[in-house]
Amino acid sequence: MGFFDRIRAGYARFMAGRYGSDQLNFAMLIVALIGSLIGSVTGLGILTIAADALLIVMFYRMLSKDRYRRAHENQVYLEKTYGMRKAVGEWINRVKNGKKYRYFVCPKCKKRLRVPRGVGSVTITCKDCGTKFDKKA
Ligand SMILES: [Zn+2]
Repeated sequence: MGFFDRIRAGYARFMAGRYGSDQLNFAMLIVALIGSLIGSVTGLGILTIAADALLIVMFYRMLSKDRYRRAHENQVYLEKTYGMRKAVGEWINRVKNGKKYRYFVCPKCKKRLRVPRGVGSVTITCKDCGTKFDKKA
């Protein structure tokens, strides 16, 4: 067995029965990185400490053998942040498609609607409530 195989086998043995990573840990990692970045830029030590604490919790969760409880925490996190994660996903989509589409908000029900760019003046019919309104796309 080569050196790297031994490391891989050792890691697999170490991680056996442990929880590993999930969406909550990933979110903690991102928040910790942003926190420590802002902390070091602004010199706010409390942010750096909070970021380190978050990383410790993250590693604790990764190495935890109480998989049931960790999975439950992740489930609660996913439920509580569903609206926010959906909004972020939609925002990313809008930025990605910004060249192809223009986005309008229905004046009645506030639903977001998209129209291909460059079609000129159009009458938009809301998919949800059927309200018609004129826009230039
Ligand atoms: Zn509408």
